[in-house]
Amino acid sequence: MTNDLLGRHRAVLPDWLALYYEEPIEITHGEGRHVWDSEGNKYLDFFGGILTTMTAHALPEVTKAVSEQAGRIIHSSTLYLNRPMVELAERIAQLSGIPDARVFFTTSGTEANDTALLLATTYRRSNTILAMRNSYHGRSFSSVGITGNRGWSPTSLSPLQTLYVHGGVRTRGPYAALSDADFIAACVDDLRDLLGHTRPPAALIAEPIQGVGGFTSPPDGLYAAFREVLQEHGVLWIADEVQTGWGRTGEHFWGWQAHGRSGPPDIMTFAKGIGNGMSIGGVVARSEIMNCLDANSISTFGGTQITMAAGLANLTYLLEHDLQGNARRVGGMLIERIRSAAAQVPHVREVRGRGLMIGIELTRPGTDEADWQAASAVLEAARAGGLLIGKGGGHNTSALRVAPPLSLNVAEAEEGAEILESALRSIQ
Ligand code: PMP
Repeated sequence: MTNDLLGRHRAVLPDWLALYYEEPIEITHGEGRHVWDSEGNKYLDFFGGILTTMTAHALPEVTKAVSEQAGRIIHSSTLYLNRPMVELAERIAQLSGIPDARVFFTTSGTEANDTALLLATTYRRSNTILAMRNSYHGRSFSSVGITGNRGWSPTSLSPLQTLYVHGGVRTRGPYAALSDADFIAACVDDLRDLLGHTRPPAALIAEPIQGVGGFTSPPDGLYAAFREVLQEHGVLWIADEVQTGWGRTGEHFWGWQAHGRSGPPDIMTFAKGIGNGMSIGGVVARSEIMNCLDANSISTFGGTQITMAAGLANLTYLLEHDLQGNARRVGGMLIERIRSAAAQVPHVREVRGRGLMIGIELTRPGTDEADWQAASAVLEAARAGGLLIGKGGGHNTSALRVAPPLSLNVAEAEEGAEILESALRSIQ
């Protein structure tokens, strides 16, 4: 049955849709932190948390809110007053830390970043954008154009002029040996150099921790240092919180908060798991930036009643159950478990992360060379052991990504760590 589906998938869908596993799986249902495939196999899901299911699979509170709203009304998001949209916007504006914040809802992270670019370029009247090397911001014409990760950025004639900045990644190459302070200084020099040779860009867009890029670990304070330089040049800062938001990093509710004195970004984007599976994306910005457009705009499905009902139920759940604190506690324990397992495995170059966002970088033992075959082998072995994890990193996807739903408990963390340990050992 699955094979037949695979043949049909390959015949009708684009070749460039990435599918995991030599024998891809069809997920049919889930509960809590577990999912099942069409052959009845059960998996602990250590990746769905960052994809769609931030909180838990089939969370009853969200299911109830969605089905009640579906039975009531789903209509235009914006042409008529929309109570759930106003309520969710109020809560996000307050949580964002951005003064005088306005919120616009979209259906995806791509569309959220597109909107952020539209706002920044209009506000600053410049179509030059600074983006980070190794970044990922989406798959539309403009968000592909600012995506620095070449594995996800097909050659296209971007409508924007993009300049790429160092700082997102420091695992390998000349930057790897630098101390945090020297790394930040080198990246700031690079940024100053770029700014000295161009008309002022509209904005710098950056993921506080790169997601698709492999859950990288820029030193705390990097974006604060960037911010000072950007402000001297009148350049806005857009924080792409699509993967780092809502408490995933444990210590902070937003990824940018790890950069302390940088203060809130001018524009922030979010998406993915806030709807716990329903398609919500959005942009938060100070009102003078949000209101710089001089024409009407609507989004038919961005902010529709059903997605907003899901978002409200999900956000309420995650705040009431302190899932940020859970990410800090359980994530802290999980990373230590993975670190001690990885110490025995020569392929592991680095185990990094915060909260429930953990990256494992694999290189050929004793070299600096990215080992994507080892990463694929671990992914397959983990699946065989009943654990779903993700891949990421630069072009060669040599990092493993661990991002379970935020409600992960200690027993599940232990179980997942054990499966991961034997998957890592299997590649030696
Ligand atoms: N920004 C980041 C940081 C992302 O990780 C992603 C998705 N991987 C996007 C934007 C795009 O989001 P979407 O797939 O919802 O369009």
